[in-house]
Amino acid sequence: MTSGGDAPGMNAAVRAIVKTALSIGIDVYAFYQGYQGMLDGGDAIKKMDWGSVGGILHKGGTIIGSARCMEFRERTGRLKAAANLIERQIDNLVVIGGDGSLTGANLFSEEWPSLLEELLKKKKINKKQALKHPKLNIVGLVGSIDNDLSGTDMTIGADTALRRIAEALDALSSTAASHQRTFVVEVMGRNCGYLALMSALSSGADYVLIPERPPEADDWTQELCDKIKANKKAGKKKSLIIVAEGARDKEGIPISGFQVVEELKKRIDEDARLTILGHVQRGGSPTAFDRYASTVLGYAAVQHLIDEEEDKESMIIGLQKNRVKAIPLMESIKKTQSIVDFISSKNFDKAIELRGGSFKDSLDIFNTLSSATPKPKEKSSETLNILVMNAGTLAPGMNITARTAVRLGMDKGHRVLGVRNAFKGLINNDIEELGWMDVEEWTVLGGSELGTNRKMPINRDFYEIAKNLESNNIHALLIIGGMVGYEAAFLLNEKRNEFPAFEIPIVCLPATINNNLPGTDFSVGTDTALNSIIEAVDKIKESAVANKRVFVVEVMGRYCGYLAMMSGLATGAERVYLHENGLTLQDLQDDVNMFKRAFNEGKRMGLVLKSEYANKIYTTPFISALFEEDGGDIFDVRQSILGHVQQGGNPSPYDRAIAIKLAAKSIDFLVEKATKGEHNAVNIGLHGGQIEYQNIEDLKRSVDLEHIRPREQWWTKLEELVNLFGRSSA
Ligand code: ADP
Repeated sequence: MTSGGDAPGMNAAVRAIVKTALSIGIDVYAFYQGYQGMLDGGDAIKKMDWGSVGGILHKGGTIIGSARCMEFRERTGRLKAAANLIERQIDNLVVIGGDGSLTGANLFSEEWPSLLEELLKKKKINKKQALKHPKLNIVGLVGSIDNDLSGTDMTIGADTALRRIAEALDALSSTAASHQRTFVVEVMGRNCGYLALMSALSSGADYVLIPERPPEADDWTQELCDKIKANKKAGKKKSLIIVAEGARDKEGIPISGFQVVEELKKRIDEDARLTILGHVQRGGSPTAFDRYASTVLGYAAVQHLIDEEEDKESMIIGLQKNRVKAIPLMESIKKTQSIVDFISSKNFDKAIELRGGSFKDSLDIFNTLSSATPKPKEKSSETLNILVMNAGTLAPGMNITARTAVRLGMDKGHRVLGVRNAFKGLINNDIEELGWMDVEEWTVLGGSELGTNRKMPINRDFYEIAKNLESNNIHALLIIGGMVGYEAAFLLNEKRNEFPAFEIPIVCLPATINNNLPGTDFSVGTDTALNSIIEAVDKIKESAVANKRVFVVEVMGRYCGYLAMMSGLATGAERVYLHENGLTLQDLQDDVNMFKRAFNEGKRMGLVLKSEYANKIYTTPFISALFEEDGGDIFDVRQSILGHVQQGGNPSPYDRAIAIKLAAKSIDFLVEKATKGEHNAVNIGLHGGQIEYQNIEDLKRSVDLEHIRPREQWWTKLEELVNLFGRSSA
């Protein structure tokens, strides 16, 4: 059941739950319109089959409907619901909804024995029925665009909502810049500032108002006006103010976007425009992340119900540090509720603390990045020269990473220099100092303003590099890019005895669409590429409505199958072909037969996602020709090699968020080490919300150098899910 406010990704969860359960022989019912359907019974409770959840993965909203239901809040309502469940022998419930829906489910489960007793007394059920279903097992999945639930790092729908907001803000920014306008944008989030904060951070906004941290100044409107004026004076072409629905001042009095517009007019005669984004934030096709997360969570929810021991409490299946986790339901709800209570009682510090460390870090980083100038330098402190560069192929998000590094480095009182054109520029001394406003527009820009390429330094290049590092008096180096950067850093590290100029701290920050770098779950740029792929594949699938057709879609990634795997999972492909998991002629033959059978049983479209170098011999044209020939009259085949669209586009909100986080921590690291005179060379990585560093010398051990990818990759087992959900029947 989906309940409460709808959220993009709910369909993916429903699909995964239904298919997982059916595949192990469990009957599945859907309650239409949430608790209302459970109460109404009849046609509102439908038995699901494999086909009921076909073609829904890419759809926004929820196909089984969602609603708010007052009657379920009353015991009489829950009594009716219990009778409907018993009638159909249902005693396991997966609820996808917000904290309200999950609280209701928990209460229902707690009351279950007494509800059955009452039904028995009223002779609505018989003793045998009551004895057969003594317990109602509950598993919750959190569907909420606000990302407001404690215990799970991301809720279903939040990533899509952020993307909708980012699309709107990017569009507004371009018109705002043309007319030097100020826009005030109101976003959702009654009790949670997540959407507002993350979108402010990733759009280069000037000011953000959220429920958890009201402005500290007594006269906050003046503070806001001063900031807008200062930013304009510093050369900013546009101003952007983000207001969360539930924003308030430190007295707890609500602040609306309208009020901000009025104040700007009154105090500084600024003609700001108000945009209230409203329900567009809830709508549209779910992002790759929401499809992936909902799919693995739905699968895990059913597994959890099967594995459940007697008398286990109700659990939520959520994500912690990028891994699926079962969390006690009420503990999580209570903690969430306590944040709301702390906000209401104006204990904002406590509210922020409970939101977790990365929320507070994001706020602090936002405050720095949105200033008109760096903070005044402390006289006594040493000024370091930090060098920032890109390396390797292009990844969306390289610019915002560099921007963050420049501003945070400057804010700490240091000079930040940029290298043009990666190692070519470092060899040719194409280096210049970057200023605060030079990088202003780099937030949303795809591509690489500094320039990047795959040049690896060799032979005499190292001498030139050493000379240039010395002549520019460089104290620390940040390389934003792919494996080329990592390998080069490895060589610089190795040649320290020869060239003392290399004895500086070096950080390699993962930025590549391929996600093939060691020591990190995610690289900057990967999420953008993934979303470009799924948008393209959605369109390709739509083009097939009339014919019986199999599409073979080739995506980038070199020897790393991440893009193929994740886009396969997010688009409902029947198969993914990856180098990691191997591909044989027998596999291809089996798959042709699988497709033949499926098309003969009524299937209309098939999809295979193939990674670039899945197999040297079985290329995309080869596979397509083989399928075409063997498919005979049963289906035809089209191949599509997606190419460079995958490297383009504005970075996604997730890529912007990790870019900022990684850049911030890299600068902290470089400054700390350079100040102490230490010269570690590391790569920085992200495991869920956690940052980790790995010495560059250890790189060789964790990388499969022949295929340029980590030896262990967290996602390779997901192929089982692709194959399971890609089946044409249970
Ligand atoms: P969300 O799940 O998105 O937080 P709501 O808070 O509106 O949305 O809850 C959705 C539905 O869940 C409600 O209409 C009601 O049927 C049920 N529900 C919510 N809270 C409770 C509760 N405390 N007891 C019983 N049912 C509840």
